[in-house]
Amino acid sequence: MSAVGTPLSDAASRAALFAPGGASRLVVKVGSSLLVAPDGAVRRAWLETLVDDLAQRRAAGQQILLVSSGAIALGSRRLGLPKGGRASLEDAQASAATGQILLAGLWAELLGAHGLTAAQILVTLGDFEDRRRFLNASATLDRLLQLGAIPILNENDTVATEEIRFGDNDRLAARAAQAGRADALILLSDIDGLYTANPAEDPEARFIETVPDIGAIAHMASSASSSGMGSGGMAAKVEAARIAHVAGVPVAIVAGKPDHPLQRFAETGRGTIFTAPDALSARKAWLAGRMQLLGRLHVDAGAARALGEGKSLLAAGIVRVEGGFRRGDAVDVICPDGRAIARGLVGYDAADARLIAGKRSDEIAGLLGYAPRSAMIHRDQMVML
Ligand code: GLU
Repeated sequence: MSAVGTPLSDAASRAALFAPGGASRLVVKVGSSLLVAPDGAVRRAWLETLVDDLAQRRAAGQQILLVSSGAIALGSRRLGLPKGGRASLEDAQASAATGQILLAGLWAELLGAHGLTAAQILVTLGDFEDRRRFLNASATLDRLLQLGAIPILNENDTVATEEIRFGDNDRLAARAAQAGRADALILLSDIDGLYTANPAEDPEARFIETVPDIGAIAHMASSASSSGMGSGGMAAKVEAARIAHVAGVPVAIVAGKPDHPLQRFAETGRGTIFTAPDALSARKAWLAGRMQLLGRLHVDAGAARALGEGKSLLAAGIVRVEGGFRRGDAVDVICPDGRAIARGLVGYDAADARLIAGKRSDEIAGLLGYAPRSAMIHRDQMVML
């Protein structure tokens, strides 16, 4: 089996992006099948080696954010439910409720043995979709990390309904990396990385060391997961890598099963690494990925041109305001031919936007009765589509 992709020069440099010197904030995602054996028992001896690795990184100054699966697997054993607690949504939710308390206790105990403080955060998909909640989660993560704690995230499976869940912790980890303004993400998994085909079935399958262009490998994602315990699978990992990629966060998919998986990765560089573009695009990536848009600002040709040159959107260039939104909501900017050309967080609520649309800056203060903001959408809060 030979490797494809653009190999980074050597093992150390491959892992350097994820090392304390390369990433001051790291997200580590731990899959269910690593934490919990097929019989439902905790893989405690292994977990202690992972916690050793984490403690070493903390001691070297790296801030760590954990995304831990395993609640459903642990809880189903305690409740005696079949199919690892995944026979129905109700079973999964009951298992998660029971298992999460065990999982959090386990992390708190093992990290505590190294003098580290664990902090539990349970999130739903909406917590990261909504800007205010995203910023709130982000501020909480930031504060915990400043205080030296290790936030441990999982999906709030007990209340999430099927349609509005992450469902897998790979994508949750990628969003958490955005929210936590992390520099890198390691997905510890029951597989050792990405292959060009399923290695169990295809002798021609080649291991992919480095993915510089996420678009080129999207078709390779196969949803097969060897454990059947978590819900991740390859497709979720590639999707997670895409979310992280647009946020400028490099991702490594690394074999988690061996003891000391992080130390092993640091020494061997073994894993599939998704490199990421310039981190400056991170915030704009969050914007571009927004799905809930609450308004449309129609602009004239001059304003459309100015946006193309990287300028902010001023009230003067707006010809019509559609929708009901509050300051800070995401809106699209529509050019005269009807195309959405940009997306941004609007500086005014809809009523004030209507009041000042088409008006010059020197008229705006009088209309509003307060000192105006510098733009309807500041260029830092906007992404061209
Ligand atoms: N949130 C689920 C749990 O704690 C795991 C999701 C996943 O398998 O990625 O059991």
